Amino acid sequence: MLKAFFARLKQGYKTGTFPTKTGPNLPPDFRGRPQLDDDMTGDDIAKMKKVCPVPRALSYDFEGAKLDMGYCTFCGRCAEVCEKMHFTKEYRLGVFKREDLVVKSTDHDYEPPVQTDPQALALKHTFQLREVSAGGCAGCELDANVLGTLAWDMGRFGIRFVASPRHADAIYLTGPISKNMQLALDKTYAAAPEPKFLIAAGACAITGGLYKHGHLPATPALYIPGCPPHPATTLEALLRFTGHAAGK
Ligand code: SF4
Ligand code: SF4
Repeated sequence: MLKAFFARLKQGYKTGTFPTKTGPNLPPDFRGRPQLDDDMTGDDIAKMKKVCPVPRALSYDFEGAKLDMGYCTFCGRCAEVCEKMHFTKEYRLGVFKREDLVVKSTDHDYEPPVQTDPQALALKHTFQLREVSAGGCAGCELDANVLGTLAWDMGRFGIRFVASPRHADAIYLTGPISKNMQLALDKTYAAAPEPKFLIAAGACAITGGLYKHGHLPATPALYIPGCPPHPATTLEALLRFTGHAAGK
């Protein structure tokens, strides 16, 4: 017993300081929210589309150039061929409306959306998620799983993955919804009690990304873009969704 006690004392407190005391410790090559220069033209978009694995992510219309994070894999190829495209270190990418995933060349200041839905705010201290991996590559699933580990410990905020949809406040969807997973997803969503939310995490879940998209059982209440979303992005989005202040 004493041995275990001293071993624990020696190990110390291992959980990271994000987001309670510091911002996230992001890798140097982290690509966050894209930024499109004001003077980006249709030709620039056409040039980037040629190297983009998901050309639907890029568009140009009367409002100017646009990048839809719902499709984007954040591979960075576009920025390699166009000096007017940049990836910032802004990791707070979670949004509550599909249209807010579209970044425009006319956007200048960005602040993540603030939650106002009382049903989501009621989950501030306990938020139970049932994960459904609907044909994902395991990238999104692994980076969601890491949030339950000692280093991230999202349980300290009352957020947990649960085994049964009957215990879930939200279905946490990853993957493009392959044909074989469509029925399982629909049944799992149906089995969760009201009020319930659908969270689409990763480009696959939001739009299909690189793949064909299945049918979402409901309109997501939270979109977390990325391929996969960084754990800091996911944790910050889940906290903000339930009414915590935006991360640093
Ligand atoms: S970062 Fe996004 S928009 Fe740019 S090339 Fe990759 S997928 Fe396309
Ligand atoms: S979004 Fe990317 S990481 Fe996530 S399941 Fe799809 S391919 Fe894998």
